Amino acid sequence: MHSAVELLYKSSCGKALTSDECSFLMGTQLSSAQLGALAAALSTKQCSLHERNLLNSIREDNVLINALMCNVTGGAMPEDDAPNLSRYVNFFRSTYYRQPVTKSQADVFMRDVASGVIQDAAIGFWLMIAKIKGLPLETTRLLTDAMIASGDVFDYRKEPSLNGYRLVRRYPTGALSEKTALILPCLISAFRHRYPVISAFLVAKSLGFTGGTWDKLSSIPEFTFPLPGNQAIRAIEDCGVAMSVTDGTLNPADRILYRMRSATATIECEGLIVSSIASKQLALPAHRLLMDVRYGVGAFLKTEREALSLATILCRIINDNGVPCFFQLCDSLQPTGSSVGNSVEVAEAIAVLGGNPGAWDQRGIIEQRHLVVDFFSKLMSAEFPRISQSEWSIQANKSLDNGEALTAFRSILYAHGVSKSTVKALVSSPFETLGINDTHVDIISGMDGRLHSIDQVRLGHIVNFQLGSGATRYGGVQQPPCGIILHVRIGDKVSLGDVLCSIVGIADVDSAIIASLRDSFIINT
Ligand code: URA
Repeated sequence: MHSAVELLYKSSCGKALTSDECSFLMGTQLSSAQLGALAAALSTKQCSLHERNLLNSIREDNVLINALMCNVTGGAMPEDDAPNLSRYVNFFRSTYYRQPVTKSQADVFMRDVASGVIQDAAIGFWLMIAKIKGLPLETTRLLTDAMIASGDVFDYRKEPSLNGYRLVRRYPTGALSEKTALILPCLISAFRHRYPVISAFLVAKSLGFTGGTWDKLSSIPEFTFPLPGNQAIRAIEDCGVAMSVTDGTLNPADRILYRMRSATATIECEGLIVSSIASKQLALPAHRLLMDVRYGVGAFLKTEREALSLATILCRIINDNGVPCFFQLCDSLQPTGSSVGNSVEVAEAIAVLGGNPGAWDQRGIIEQRHLVVDFFSKLMSAEFPRISQSEWSIQANKSLDNGEALTAFRSILYAHGVSKSTVKALVSSPFETLGINDTHVDIISGMDGRLHSIDQVRLGHIVNFQLGSGATRYGGVQQPPCGIILHVRIGDKVSLGDVLCSIVGIADVDSAIIASLRDSFIINT
């Protein structure tokens, strides 16, 4: 079973597409952005006969892509040049040949992305050459600036009603099963009564195989996201925290590229990730930022080395723009906690906060709690250094133990439009309130052994794209609400017939999905 995105990914890694895969792509309705990205990927490598036929058929059907190929990657000028292409040709060529781009080229491109002037095929084409060729540091800086300038800057540090408070924020680079973003805001909100700390969190949508915090919070009935500006300021005044989305006029260029990168398999590019994240942080500046840079099998960055390189550049660009920023590298060896799936992860986060404990694997709950406390204590000790990190950890644990963090969770929900009755029901019966019905399908181990690893990319694809009849790709609430609960952790002994994980919320699951899910668990015999 393959999908267009998986094949685009394969091609972007320089691997040859088989004849079957080329036929599949030829017979599949690809979006314009995907066609542009595919043509770009094929143009950068030595093509097989099948790949050449595929590329030729894309060029024959698409004047713009043909023009891009002729103008950017070499060859003769096409007779029928595509409208507006001349505005970007030098920018695209520079990206292709890894030459420096100019400020005005980056500005024009991002402005046109934001206003919808540039065609999706051209954006997809550029994203793919950026991914394959890589972006030099100076280009990444210019793209960051251009993305910020595509919208407005919301600087709450200057907001009179928040005067005296310190705005702090943690932002993750993306991994499967990311629940810290649901729990950490509760600690900040709880502590605002004792320390002058607040946060405008930035909530992103699903990217690639990962679910976004936006999607998770969207699964809570009545939850509404404040727009950057007055709505977000009001939420911060109410509860110390705003769960802000990159909506409205905050960085529209990133919003468009972000979504398109999922569909074109162009996420894993250092320069694209850095410019996407840095531009959002600088469009919504804070007094202190902590970048949670994930790597490993559950993340976009696969190695610690890649993560360190990205983290260094990301923090340098943000710091150079006057916003103090530091990072923490975090290995995503296995999903944090035991749940994967938007609504199910909300239910587990509630258990970590001390709400309904459910029947969660306590090892996952403890691990998730440690992670949140660690981020909180690092962020707070950096911003309020008179108190040591270990003291902040003690205080955070106390706040989780004595119900203060859970009370803050309730306040955050009220400030984001959730009614008292829904909040009460959510905390006491999360599954029911989130609409996760009580059917489940168990995935059974076919062998004895020890759990060696979990293919988290596959797990993410299954949960985010294949389960839930009405689930939308790259953003949206899964219908019916569903997900996976893991019953084993890496290193566990597994016996034939043991339940590896359960699909919850759906009774009727395709046998191919069940088999694929079972194969996600790599068991050493
Ligand atoms: N998060 C973002 O906001 N952008 C990326 O490119 C990756 C993670």
